[in-house]
Amino acid sequence: MITLEQCRVWDQADELAALRQQFDLPDGIIYLDGNSLGVLPRSAMSRAQDVIRREWGADLINSWNKAGWWSLPVRLGDHVAPLVGAGAGEIVVTDTASLNLFKVLANAVRIQNSRHPEKKIILAERDAFPTDLYMIQGLIELLDQGYALQLLDEPGDLATAVTEQTAVVVLSHVNYRTGYLYDMEAVTGLVHAHDALIIWDLCHSIGAVPMNLKAADADFAIGCTYKYLNGGPGAPAMLWANPRHHGALWQPLSGWWGHARPFDMSTEFVPATGIRSFLCGTQPIVSMSLIACGVDIFRQTDMQIIRSKSLRLTDLFIQLVEQECAGLDMMLITPLDHQHRGSHVSFRHPQGYAVLQALIARGVIGDYREPEVMRFGVTPLYLGYSDIWHAVQNLKAVLQDREWDQDRFRVRGLVT
Ligand SMILES: *Cc1c(COP(=O)(O)O)cnc(C)c1O
Repeated sequence: MITLEQCRVWDQADELAALRQQFDLPDGIIYLDGNSLGVLPRSAMSRAQDVIRREWGADLINSWNKAGWWSLPVRLGDHVAPLVGAGAGEIVVTDTASLNLFKVLANAVRIQNSRHPEKKIILAERDAFPTDLYMIQGLIELLDQGYALQLLDEPGDLATAVTEQTAVVVLSHVNYRTGYLYDMEAVTGLVHAHDALIIWDLCHSIGAVPMNLKAADADFAIGCTYKYLNGGPGAPAMLWANPRHHGALWQPLSGWWGHARPFDMSTEFVPATGIRSFLCGTQPIVSMSLIACGVDIFRQTDMQIIRSKSLRLTDLFIQLVEQECAGLDMMLITPLDHQHRGSHVSFRHPQGYAVLQALIARGVIGDYREPEVMRFGVTPLYLGYSDIWHAVQNLKAVLQDREWDQDRFRVRGLVT
């Protein structure tokens, strides 16, 4: 039996507990949705004031040089790099994850077309975050060169799904719905053994699990900054290319920010060398300026410490649901095996949507994804063991007393 007292003892011994003070969390809320929209770092408030008042308001156009706005996408990339096992000059922060996927996929296809033009399959998961599939479909249509999207049904089928026809594989490191975590190194090796290239979507793993893109020798990666990294709603995404590919990078969206000498104002596009070439147009500086605030907090600890607490918290959530909500139709869809679990836990429940709304009404915020899936994100920087206890107690109350069974909890918002 796990008790609240036990959870409090674990909280006392938690070496990350002090970092919670660096976030501005609303009172009376247990936030289990940091995998969808991260919380507000306190320093982001003063940073936003400074960017708007001084850099924009007072210094105006001078700030492109004086405040380093021009170099911000690459400097931020260097700041994020240690979290994903990348080096300096390998990451740029820009655009959205969807757009970045388009750019790196265009690169991967182009590289493969020059080496193995007969390979025409782009492999991705049926259960991928849909934008990945949409972007792949869009590029295939645009290229009109006979490429086809093949959908993988289960992670276990990967070894047989990758064949000599496979040009590029696009996978989510952590699945947004189930929380399934791929072994980046093993999968990259498997893909390379078939002369295919791999693109990792890190949206649900950056800031959630340790990884080493370079040790795994992956080809390309993209990821959000507004989820676990707490960069703010719609903050630009990251894009990584293995330095192995830097000699042959290609920017399909050849805007002036990716030009070698943008202020030559020449008629011809000459790409910048290196990762900067993946920039397209003028960056959203205000939003981008806040990303470092969240990343700074990560850099006060390390991903191994975050990971071990994350696993203890997700284990606790799963055990408490078993202990407190037995017989109440909660069906775990997240792997129990640590090797294959990210930092969120998901359960199916026939009334998942209404249960989740009733839970939110009690101040416990998770989210809902079709079909019937309730997701609970675990963020070790600002969640403790007692929080998990209280979250599950609320869940139990909602289920036991059928609190969810009210019309107001069945109304769907635009965003679930
Ligand atoms: C959140 C998420 C995205 C979102 O992409 P945007 O372009 O930032 O909207 C893509 N892929 C995965 C796996 C995600 O979790």
